[in-house]
Parts: sequence; structure tokens; C-alpha cells
Amino acid sequence: MANEIRDHGAFTAVKWEDHSSVDVGFQAAPVRSAEQGKLLRVCFSGNYGYGSAGNRDATYMDAMFRAADEVLHPEGVILDFSAMAYQWGDMLGKVLNVPDRWRALEEPPFAIVEGADCKGALRSLLVDDLDWDASSLDWIFEDVDQAREFVELRITKNANMFQLQLDRKRDEAALAFWKMLGEEIGPERCRSAACTRLRIKDSVLCRIHHFEQIQHSACPFS
Ligand SMILES: [Zn+2]
Repeated sequence: MANEIRDHGAFTAVKWEDHSSVDVGFQAAPVRSAEQGKLLRVCFSGNYGYGSAGNRDATYMDAMFRAADEVLHPEGVILDFSAMAYQWGDMLGKVLNVPDRWRALEEPPFAIVEGADCKGALRSLLVDDLDWDASSLDWIFEDVDQAREFVELRITKNANMFQLQLDRKRDEAALAFWKMLGEEIGPERCRSAACTRLRIKDSVLCRIHHFEQIQHSACPFS
């Protein structure tokens, strides 16, 4: 019966320290290799539980990291474990996954920093449990400045690659447009001043002048 609900059992504040002995802090810094954009550094400290005792630490760390990533949407991420003690526990692996939006990138802008109290154990988790090749762990650093430089370099590389892909797509589209315009059939001449070429089908301009009028750029074809 509703009127028999007992009056004890009030809401109380949730204290994360009751659920995990790992603390999570956040810092942001500008990307020095770009005009704009920011880096997110997630700093973990405290003691990660041993083995499965660390499962809820991992869950808490992962949730806090993803929340910051979604809110700030940084161009690069550094997970800093240098002040965290970790011996073993494979759930930590889920914290090490790059944000989903970078899954397709061969070189995601992501690095981790290890410290004296987690060093061998982090590498062992990656190599022994998560099947990383020990020689491919070039994204682990002992120094946050080195991690930052590494992430910034990758941001620049990825931006350049993206620009190259855009350029290639634009070139392909231009060529397709050029082919679609077809031959200059005339018999009238192009109406552009001093042009002696014949007009293409459905236009008063030659192929080159029609291309330039529509694309607003010099025609690379002839
Ligand atoms: Zn012309």
C-alpha cells in the first residue's frame, strides 16, 4: 500500500570515491601544429584494483573519458596514467580504445603516458592480452610533452591526408564534368571574346570556356 511507504531510505549523494579509488582529472591545451583545435589530456591517479577488482575502476575511467571526449570533441587525446598504480586487470583495455570517430584512421591522434607504477603492466596488457605487437607501441610515452608532440604530428599528417583526398575527389569530379561536356560541334563559334573555338552542344561557349564558367577556375584540360 502506498501510504505504508517507510519514511527512511532518502536519496543521498553518490560519491565516486565509494565506487573507484581512481581519480580522473581533465586538462585541455591548444594544438600547436594547427590554427585551431584542442588536445584533451585525461589524468588518471590513485590505485587501480588488482585483476577483476579493477573492473569498476575501468568502467568509471572509461565513462569519464568518453564523457569528456564527447563534450569537448578534441582533435587529439592523451591518456595519462603516470600517477596511477596498475598491476593487472584486462578490463583496463577498454579505456585504451580510441574514440569511435578515429577507428578508421591508421594513425589516430592518440597517445598514452605511463609512469613508474604501471609501466611494465600496461605494456603487458597490450601485448599479452590485447595482441598488440610490442614493436608497434610507439604511442606510449613516459613524458607528456613527447606524447603531445606525437599527437600533434599525427593531427597534421591526418589533416594533410584528408586534404589530399579532397583534392583527388575534386580532380576526379572536374574530369568527369569535362568528359560530360563533349566535343565542340559548332557550327557557331564560342561567344567568349576572341575565342575561335566552336561551341559545344547545348551551350553558346566552347568546351573550355563553358567549363571555366561553371567551375569558376582555370580549365586544366584542353
Ligand atoms: Zn571559347
